[in-house]
Amino acid sequence: MKIKCLQCGQILESKFRHDFQQCDCSNETAVDGGKDYLRLSAINLNLIGIFVEKDGQIILQDINGKVIND
Ligand SMILES: [Zn+2]
Repeated sequence: MKIKCLQCGQILESKFRHDFQQCDCSNETAVDGGKDYLRLSAINLNLIGIFVEKDGQIILQDINGKVIND
């Protein structure tokens, strides 16, 4: 699972189970679980962007599934 902190712009990728990745800014955006499960955390969950594949393209969505254009 690959995500982006929308506050600092850092891209975080959890490549395997227990591969915990966290950004360096005050929002503490983090991802864990690789492909096995998904765990997201942040002070403000609305500042997480999630990379998803749709129709062969990688797009960025927020946690509500709304597409983010950046
Ligand atoms: Zn951040």
